[in-house]
Amino acid sequence: MRKIRGLILFSGGLDSILAAKILMEQKIKLKGITFKSYFFNEEQAKKAAKQIKLPLKIIDFSKEHLKIVKSPKYGYGKAINPCIDCHILMLKTAKRIMKKEKFDFIITGDVLGERPMSQNKQALGLIKKESKLGGYLLQPLSAKLLKETIPEKLGWVNRKELFDISGRSRKKQIALAEKYRIKEYPTPAGGCLLTDLEFAKRLKELLKIYPRCNDNDIELLKLGRHFLENRTKIIVGRNEQEDKTIKRLAKRQDVLVEMKNYPGPLTLIRNYQRGKISKKIIERAQELTQYYSFKARHKKDVKFDIIKK
Ligand code: SF4
Repeated sequence: MRKIRGLILFSGGLDSILAAKILMEQKIKLKGITFKSYFFNEEQAKKAAKQIKLPLKIIDFSKEHLKIVKSPKYGYGKAINPCIDCHILMLKTAKRIMKKEKFDFIITGDVLGERPMSQNKQALGLIKKESKLGGYLLQPLSAKLLKETIPEKLGWVNRKELFDISGRSRKKQIALAEKYRIKEYPTPAGGCLLTDLEFAKRLKELLKIYPRCNDNDIELLKLGRHFLENRTKIIVGRNEQEDKTIKRLAKRQDVLVEMKNYPGPLTLIRNYQRGKISKKIIERAQELTQYYSFKARHKKDVKFDIIKK
């Protein structure tokens, strides 16, 4: 008999690990897919996939993902996380792979009511509808609370062995992890920068002054102390490693400021409006560079290097 093949969206969080284990128990041949973008990476998924011996494909969807972050059809969660649009994009990508690589159905570790924005009944229905997966999307942790899917109807998967988990408590998942002897799993906080309120503040500010921002601008948001003067950003490195990365990210028309005669941070000035960087902004960047140098903060003999890229 032909083996039934499932494609699972695998973040490496506990829910996706359990969803995979439940179907592995039912002898479904699984392959995981995980996504990476400017805002999260694949490391957690790689580690977890190794633990449960799940073959994993990594998909870099950074550019498409940034588009929905800039303008989500279904809005943001608490920070700048467009979770509904993000789920839809992942499922649409998974559907393409399902068709191309001839998988029988798609699995996710979604738990009804666990996340307020993207896992309530209405949102799960919407995600299913928009991704056009119909009955080919199975969510084994909450399956018994949801409509029967095609894999269940056709007997590929035994519905009786699926679960009726809902809500934010993770007690049932933790008990299941013990049953399956899953020793390592990450905390539910996840690794998506878009849910971080501080990062969200920086990104919202950037989108307002420069909606065309790209990967380079996003990388800079992850580093240093940020100051906004009109539509010009001054970014002061917080340590040697950040200074090196800031230097690498500097591009044409940026200005770099550093002290000649004291150790201290590297500061980058990026103008998001047309025209030259004013003398006043350069002076402000010098002030900040000196202020954040422990050794130079109160000195009167500081000299600067101003490097125009
Ligand atoms: S938390 Fe981040 S990765 Fe997860 S669904 Fe929301 S936007 Fe996507």
